Amino acid sequence: MTLIDETELLAAVPDGLFIDGAWRPASGGATLDVRDPATGEVVKAIASATSADGIAALAAADAAFPGWAATPARTRAEVLRRAFDLLQERKEEFALLMTVEMGKPLAEARGEVAYGGEFLRWFSEEAARVQGRYGANPEGTGRMIVTQHPVGPCFLITPWNFPLAMATRKIAPALAAGCTVVVKPASLTPLTTLYFVKLLEDAGVPSGVVNVVTTAHSGEVSDAILADRRLRKLSFTGSTPVGQALLKQAADGVLRTSMELGGNAPFVVFDDADLDKAVDGAIAAKFRNIGQACTAANRFIVHRSLVEEFAARVTARVESFATGRGTEDGVVIGPLIDDRAVAKADALVTDAVDRGAVLRTGGAAIEGPGTFYAATVLTDVAAGSDILREEIFGPVLAIVPFDDEDEAVALANSTEYGLVSYVYTESLSRGQRMIERLETGMMGLNVGVVSNAAAPFGGWKFSGLGREGGAEGIHEYLQTKYTLTPNP
Ligand code: NAD
Repeated sequence: MTLIDETELLAAVPDGLFIDGAWRPASGGATLDVRDPATGEVVKAIASATSADGIAALAAADAAFPGWAATPARTRAEVLRRAFDLLQERKEEFALLMTVEMGKPLAEARGEVAYGGEFLRWFSEEAARVQGRYGANPEGTGRMIVTQHPVGPCFLITPWNFPLAMATRKIAPALAAGCTVVVKPASLTPLTTLYFVKLLEDAGVPSGVVNVVTTAHSGEVSDAILADRRLRKLSFTGSTPVGQALLKQAADGVLRTSMELGGNAPFVVFDDADLDKAVDGAIAAKFRNIGQACTAANRFIVHRSLVEEFAARVTARVESFATGRGTEDGVVIGPLIDDRAVAKADALVTDAVDRGAVLRTGGAAIEGPGTFYAATVLTDVAAGSDILREEIFGPVLAIVPFDDEDEAVALANSTEYGLVSYVYTESLSRGQRMIERLETGMMGLNVGVVSNAAAPFGGWKFSGLGREGGAEGIHEYLQTKYTLTPNP
């Protein structure tokens, strides 16, 4: 049950670009349609920016930078804190908006509002904790002063799967540090960002500090912004191939970069695991966001002695899931984001079955309006199957057996990604060995969801560079200056 009217909410979402404190149409007058993936229907048309609009947004961010950087940290913090408070007041609106444009069940959308909001509160607190240091040099010939400074105008690119949290996870630390920003949300889910920027306006963010360009031409707009030397930082969340291409472009401007890229998380269940906990964790790690999370468990590496029971128990849970539009009570499996996502899930399942995997449940797209794929469980997935190498980004749980700890570690690490790993064991020493041996930026030890605004989120290897959240997050938007002075 929702507490607000969907039509009224959609009408309240701005449909323009937000540049230098004003809402305006795209310079060419073009628009882009936003669809509800549960029905396929267009829910709103919004401005589709040109490269010139992108440059206008960057110019506004550049002009606003000196004033915002010089604003006392406490004042910047108070703006973020007001934004946090406003988000609590409007949480039902943001939850419904995400369900409509992205498809996740309303209960999960409410969870994302809570999680995404915490970045506003956390970085409002961190803003005042940015400090330098002062001391004698080792030779005693002078005094060293180390200070921190905002890096400058930033370009923030976000994906469609967590429309609010991926935006707050970048905007909050940037603003806390004294940076100004141009935000480019995914063209599939721009409404949440537009509505959030309206909230930031209400919270008192000065003109030019936050600018938004929505566009159907991400590559062109991004090329122009990245080639402009006023830009000082790129923060990107999305797929590894796009991130790699952007890193090459960022090299020309020697830009600071933060990259939150793809994942291929192993979920390892040892023979000493508590199976009740492991099944609960597996359901959360796999089916949250309909499997469309960078942190989604992609490969279930299960001790051979437990495979049958584990598979039977997750299959029973999966078969109890309700599928439908995320606004309907009790729905667990909403739509995938688009036709391509359905085709990809289907191709990965077909490839696995062709190579000998056993289909326990699901395994097909669901007919009708909207882009749905049935929740699926596979066992006996053969080495070399595409599903073990690629991000599934859908509700498909693929199980491979192992016999001993070394084999489990080798399987878990046999991927170019290194975002998150999940391990289930009741042995403390085995858990400690996994912390030391798994090539991963994050780990859930007997836990199926790890994200927290107070923790450093980020990956190793092809999963990215830099960290968002935690004490580390604000430093992505700060640069260091060292000054030597004579002794007093
Ligand atoms: P994507 O790479 O297709 O798109 C991400 C963003 O980049 C979108 O805003 C898109 O419009 C934009 N984009 C696409 N091509 C571009 C180009 N040439 N120039 C500039 N911008 C461009 O990814 P997606 O499908 O939106 O998101 C799913 C991916 O994001 C998955 O790989 C997932 O693992 C990853 N992801 C990572 C994290 C993390 O924190 N590591 C979090 C969420 C999602």
